[in-house]
Amino acid sequence: MKDESRDDLIDVNALFLGPKSENRDFFMQMLRFIMNDHADWRICYQPDDSPAFSEAQRSEPRFQATLQRTQQALVELAGRLQLSSVPWFSPRYLGHMNADTLMAANLAYMLTLLYNPNNCAYEGSPATTAMEIEVGRQLARLLGYHPDRAWGHVTSGGTVANYEGLWVARNLKSVPLAVREAVPELVTGRTEWQLLNFSAEQSLDLLDRVKAAGQMDAVRARSARGTGVTAGKLGKILVPQTKHYSWTKAADILGLGQDNLVFIRVDDRFRLDVQHLRETILRLAAEHTPILAVVAVVGTTEEGAIDPVHEVIRLRQELAAQGIWFYLHVDAAYGGYARAMILGADDQPIDLAELPAAFRRHHVFSEPLDWPDPDIYAAFRAMAEADSITIDPHKMGYIPYAAGAVVLKDRRVLELISYFAAYVFEKSEDNPMLLGSYIMEGSKSGAAVASVWTAHQLVPLNITGYGRIIGSSIEGAHRFHDALRTTPPYDFHSRRFRVHPLVRPDFNMVDFAFHEEGNPSLAAMNELNVRLWEKCSYKSGRMYSEDFITSKTALSREEYGESPCRFVRSLGIPEAEWDRLGSVYVLRSCVLTPYLVHQTSFVEYWGNFLRSMSRALQAVV
Ligand SMILES: *Cc1c(COP(=O)(O)O)cnc(C)c1O
Repeated sequence: MKDESRDDLIDVNALFLGPKSENRDFFMQMLRFIMNDHADWRICYQPDDSPAFSEAQRSEPRFQATLQRTQQALVELAGRLQLSSVPWFSPRYLGHMNADTLMAANLAYMLTLLYNPNNCAYEGSPATTAMEIEVGRQLARLLGYHPDRAWGHVTSGGTVANYEGLWVARNLKSVPLAVREAVPELVTGRTEWQLLNFSAEQSLDLLDRVKAAGQMDAVRARSARGTGVTAGKLGKILVPQTKHYSWTKAADILGLGQDNLVFIRVDDRFRLDVQHLRETILRLAAEHTPILAVVAVVGTTEEGAIDPVHEVIRLRQELAAQGIWFYLHVDAAYGGYARAMILGADDQPIDLAELPAAFRRHHVFSEPLDWPDPDIYAAFRAMAEADSITIDPHKMGYIPYAAGAVVLKDRRVLELISYFAAYVFEKSEDNPMLLGSYIMEGSKSGAAVASVWTAHQLVPLNITGYGRIIGSSIEGAHRFHDALRTTPPYDFHSRRFRVHPLVRPDFNMVDFAFHEEGNPSLAAMNELNVRLWEKCSYKSGRMYSEDFITSKTALSREEYGESPCRFVRSLGIPEAEWDRLGSVYVLRSCVLTPYLVHQTSFVEYWGNFLRSMSRALQAVV
């Protein structure tokens, strides 16, 4: 069977250098190839040119001393890095969204670095600009968009990808009003409210007519990019309380104003509350305030929660019947690559009922795992309906920094952000692909792009490739969660401590807190967890002796409303404590490592965790 043979190509253990540099020999071999290959390239370019300096010059003392100083500088750098870097490669590290990165991606980065391409302009990066466009198409496919109609590219990270999504939403929202000023005959009979509720498709079809009328420049000049935005005129931006802080920055930087952000409640699993979203939109509509954009998150930064994107889409359809429309951006910086879990070897979605069999066939989980639940599955499916999506290769793509990406569903929107008339050369044979003209950044690393591209050559963006790596990470997270839930209490001097997971993870982030049985004080519990974190983090300054390294987060009322209250109550802490303090401190473990699924390594690392926590508890109580 075609599926099986392709599936057999990927062994996850062969993808990473490994926690003990297990694949060191191969890596060395490839480094030698990279260097020789590049050095030969230089020699073969105009072979008759003479060398710039001779062997005799190279043996001069100053030359030799310079080389020696180069070596010293590198040795010093290596020392500094080893002394104060975090061992992300180790399964002992369960903190931020970091783990080992793919060997292929690291090697591709190093190889490309020697050519130093700049993806701002085609002229500076003929090879890697083409790769960036290709990566955009691959990600479009992964997200369920039509690769010929969508457009995506590699950004420095999810932050800039979010800025670009909102940039497009802002300019698009202003199009119908700009058309009313520049070519009013195209929108006769439309009220301002109707113009502010044009769907993306309506606005883009309208732009096609503007283009046919030769009025593109006039409309672009009257859109938000030309005129700026009057406070609140284009409406509100609705983001869930679990938002990444890049959204607050985005509202600032794009001149939309932080006052125009509205935070939507999340439920006690930290997923967007669609009922509250509906009420908020209807309340705003009743006072004639349009919605500039709604943001849903696939993989919240602190909890890994997956918002019900499908319900947001259903709500949009329902409201469209009432003449209300909103742009939907999905912030899947963290969770986006996990959509590979539901795509078959043909890159098409697998039905929910078929998934367990497909997971078995493709060795996605080592033991059956009850994941995804129907809402998570439906959310992944529905991403294809969003107008734009942020997805970070440098998170679940296991790519080195800096590689985020944004994908736009309908490439026609490029005309609203491009700095050259995209439509002039769009159809020409020698499309110069001047990326710098439609992106927020200028000069940018082609090496990062080559790194993503190479990883995608090797690891299919479906169940047979990324599905298997991410499957291991999700399974490891669930195993860690289940072990936390069932671990016996720690007893010291007639005091008893238990560890409590915050929620069953939607994805691969496990939040948890230690709590002393019978302790009624939230402040005391927070204090305990702060001190535990200090013992199990970079802060302890003992990276080499650390048994377990994690991160932390505080879930405060200011950001999360009452969502964390249920967790606090479940520990037997009175609700009044939450009312008074309004913040609960939890440890936060993102399980990116694919190595927690092997029974022996899980037992070993879980043992490390227990010993580490036991020592940390004894030290702090
Ligand atoms: C990480 C993250 C971002 C920001 O991405 P960077 O790559 O750090 O710029 C945005 N949104 C979410 C949900 C994230 O998890």
